[in-house]
Amino acid sequence: MALIVQKYGGTSVGSVERIQHVADKVLAYRKDGHEVVVVVSAMSGETDRLLGLARAINPRIEGRELDVLLSTGEQVTIALLAMALEARGCPARSYTGAQVHILTDSAHNKARIRDIDGARVRRDLADGRVVVVAGFQGVDEHGNITTLGRGGSDTTAVALAAALKADECQIYTDVDGVYTTDPRVVPNARRLERITFEEMLEMASLGSKVLQIRSVEFAGKYNVPLRVLSSFKDGPGTLITFEEEGMEQALISGIAFNQNEAQLTILGVPDQPGVAYRILGPISDANIEVDMIVQNVGADATTDFTFTVHRNDFDKALGILKGLSAELGARQVSGDPKIVKISLVGVGMRSHAGIASKMFKALAKEGINIRMISTSEIKVSVVVDEKYLELGVRALHDAFELEKPQQGA
Ligand code: ADP
Ligand code: ASP
Ligand code: MG
Repeated sequence: MALIVQKYGGTSVGSVERIQHVADKVLAYRKDGHEVVVVVSAMSGETDRLLGLARAINPRIEGRELDVLLSTGEQVTIALLAMALEARGCPARSYTGAQVHILTDSAHNKARIRDIDGARVRRDLADGRVVVVAGFQGVDEHGNITTLGRGGSDTTAVALAAALKADECQIYTDVDGVYTTDPRVVPNARRLERITFEEMLEMASLGSKVLQIRSVEFAGKYNVPLRVLSSFKDGPGTLITFEEEGMEQALISGIAFNQNEAQLTILGVPDQPGVAYRILGPISDANIEVDMIVQNVGADATTDFTFTVHRNDFDKALGILKGLSAELGARQVSGDPKIVKISLVGVGMRSHAGIASKMFKALAKEGINIRMISTSEIKVSVVVDEKYLELGVRALHDAFELEKPQQGA
């Protein structure tokens, strides 16, 4: 007998029929003698619908009341799933995040889980019930409802699995595992049997939304066996594992992309000490996170400074730069929200040179201009025009032959 935490995403609970199907799947695990805790998301489209309602009242809405609203999506699903289980003769109880005491900090709309009191869940399991918990939400120390950021149900599931010391955390979604890249963009993308936590973390933070970044962080930190599977068809899915010593790693495990960034450039600023600080200080004071940064030195003792921010912060950042322009003696300020960051990820890159040049060659062959580059030990990222997203990702997938099983994979 094992204790399994299962999470079903929005599409997997997108209709009454899908919820019935989830109940059948849960029941099958129960019949095999396992204890099951289920975490569910809101029905597909519901969180966006609620956000739309809130934005119709205030386009810039954020904070406490938004969390009160958004958390209702998941509350609907837990009740429906518990009803479907009961209708099958399976004792079940549904709980909101606050009820099972998923304690978070008070950072509304992007709260972090601090602690989970598993006592109530354990009692129900001991009484033979399936426990159904609302994903994506918690409660802070003052009793305020909080939410964990988009995709946060993944993190609820992993955190619950860690707190309950579950034998496995299964993330059921609308694809049957983690692929070499988003299979909706590259149809011949290949499902990975396994991927290391380190690579999955990098893929998630570079834009692959199949798992929320924090869920991967949590699973790595608390050693939670994590698997991504399809709720639509049976199969082994993808196991997220630790790097095993002596195991030869695939050179490239995948390609991630992020369409949520925007680029800003301030041209012809005098090249003096403190310039970067004078530009980025006010940006950070406005709580805007900066991702990539490039500074070019011109021949005339001036410099061009380019950086990327989240698209939601584009207007605000552009306004700040325009305000700074005269004071800094800049020639021009420009910006482009239509960019995409494409990244190659692989722990095997650590011991191989030449990945970046092969990447640049493949993009050049398609006539794709690279605007920015950044590298780390296990990734190379480029910023290109958004219109090249599909072409760029496919060209790289082909160039590195990711559709074929990789060496050591
Ligand atoms: P859920 O609602 O179940 O949480 P998400 O939409 O959040 O599902 O995540 C699943 C989606 O992630 C897939 O439909 C797929 O389009 C996308 N995706 C992006 N990158 C990858 C990848 N490397 N492997 C698999 N899916 C990916
Ligand atoms: N319902 C939330 C969202 O759409 C959380 C989740 O699905 O993980 O982001
Ligand atoms: Mg998700």
